Amino acid sequence: MSTDNLTKKDENEEAIIVENPFHSARLKPKRKGKKPPKLLAVVHQSGCTGCEICIQGCPVDSIELVPGPNPENPQFQQTVEIDLARCIGCQNCSQDCPWETIIMYEHNDAFTAWSGETLFSELYIDENKVEEIKKSVVSE
Ligand code: SF4
Ligand code: SF4
Repeated sequence: MSTDNLTKKDENEEAIIVENPFHSARLKPKRKGKKPPKLLAVVHQSGCTGCEICIQGCPVDSIELVPGPNPENPQFQQTVEIDLARCIGCQNCSQDCPWETIIMYEHNDAFTAWSGETLFSELYIDENKVEEIKKSVVSE
């Protein structure tokens, strides 16, 4: 996926969002085929309870958990996010979510929806954060 369209308003500045190269999802198989899917799924995280039901039905394992804020109890207030680079648009998750908080979007509209509806992401991060992580890895 091109993440060129991913931006996020952050403290009045528009952040450029890129794939997090350090996320374990990057080790999973990439989406096959040259054409992107017509539809992509986006989690409206404000309505997500972190119940994990959607994860079971994803045929390509492209739904990732986002741990809650307390590292000692990461399941508390956890949520999920979808790897847009790997989603094939099958719609299983949007049909399975009991809270109807996963919405299917036309491919190009999904990036705008992601920006508006994502509260916590570990798959896609501010490009400046990538540099910070690289530096902290080198200095360890
Ligand atoms: S639409 Fe299908 S492939 Fe995409 S995240 Fe949902 S279940 Fe997975
Ligand atoms: S099924 Fe819905 S509420 Fe449950 S984790 Fe998935 S998106 Fe969140």
